[in-house]
Amino acid sequence: MLLEATPSVELEVNPWESAAHRFDEAAELLKLDDGIRKVLRLPTMELTVNIPVMLDDGRVEVFTGYRVQHSIARGPAKGGIRFAPDVSLDEVRALAAWMTWKCAVVNIPFGGGKGGVICEPQLLSESELERITRRYTAEICEFIGPERDVPAPDVNTNEQTMAWIMDTYSMHKRHTVTAVVTGKPLELGGSRGRPEATGRGCMIVTMEALKRFGLAPEDARVIIQGFGNVGGMAARLMTRRGFKITCIVEYDGAVYNPHGLDVEALMLYRRDTGSIRGFPEAEDVDKEEALLLPCEVLIPAARENVITSHNADRIRAKILCEGANGPTTFLADSILHDKKVFVIPDILANAGGVTVSYFEWVQDRGGYFWREDEVNTRLEEIMVASFNDVTGYSEKHAVHNRTAAYMLALDRVAYAIKKRGLYA
Ligand code: GLU
Repeated sequence: MLLEATPSVELEVNPWESAAHRFDEAAELLKLDDGIRKVLRLPTMELTVNIPVMLDDGRVEVFTGYRVQHSIARGPAKGGIRFAPDVSLDEVRALAAWMTWKCAVVNIPFGGGKGGVICEPQLLSESELERITRRYTAEICEFIGPERDVPAPDVNTNEQTMAWIMDTYSMHKRHTVTAVVTGKPLELGGSRGRPEATGRGCMIVTMEALKRFGLAPEDARVIIQGFGNVGGMAARLMTRRGFKITCIVEYDGAVYNPHGLDVEALMLYRRDTGSIRGFPEAEDVDKEEALLLPCEVLIPAARENVITSHNADRIRAKILCEGANGPTTFLADSILHDKKVFVIPDILANAGGVTVSYFEWVQDRGGYFWREDEVNTRLEEIMVASFNDVTGYSEKHAVHNRTAAYMLALDRVAYAIKKRGLYA
């Protein structure tokens, strides 16, 4: 079943539509078997839970949460859990499918999953968040596990959230099961290098892309949207490598310095004031306009639907490195392509996180932990090889990088389904 060729703009911002369009395009080009198309077009499992939680003031509130497993053909489902007020089943579905493709692009033995809870973390206390996390975990407990579905941090969740999930799951199983989640604190079976992994992966693929333009990091002005786990880490690591981070964009404003921002000072400023706005060594700029400033590299590392049919034609970057999941809508794809922007698609660009999650899972199961340089070397090997796989495929088949990444991934997942056969 193909979606309409020219969808309405309202559909543009539905992530599941974006995911489905790209899937259909790649499946068509691969001439993928009809049956396999049907299998992969829908998630294998979708769970909705309504969880009652006592708030600090004694009131009971019910929160809705989801866990979706898109595919388990290549291994256990893998993917984060996000806490946000606008989480929806369609968003979680899309994110779960993107995890399937992402794990296949970097060729690690996982399928794809995702979870989310509709809540406003900024308005909740630490103990309310703990109770939400534990009750949500208890409800999805039968469906997750080291061999089944392995959650990780995502938007508004962190290593503390993962420690609570690990503990709740372990209490149910009556023994400690560290490998049920990744992104845990180092002392509880976490991996060295995991907190920086997504940002480091973005930097590695950006450096590979720069080579194609004959540019060195020192020649590259970088705009980063998001200053959290992905954007903040990318900014910090890239500054150390000589990149010039000229603009940081956050949900409440943006700061710009054409000579390059002092990223460490900006982090301290934000810690002390609660915002990046008003940073003395930069100019405050409009957060929408910030994405359109001149630069060599643009890294959207926040949420979905940032580059759309409304602004794609005004993007001035040479390289778009998608640190977030789904920052570009399917309608923006062809505009960027016509402008010859070199797109490093999300399912490649931000795969550093899940790659080190894979290393964490391996270390937990083996009970033997690696040095940080071992983690980083192995991550770099995988990111560079995957970058070359995707760009090589794109050149060979004359398709853009995103389509190439999808085709490569679909092919690998389809192979697993075909070889395993149907259990009936
Ligand atoms: N939430 C991250 C992502 O979207 C990490 C997932 C994981 O490590 O399982 O890729």
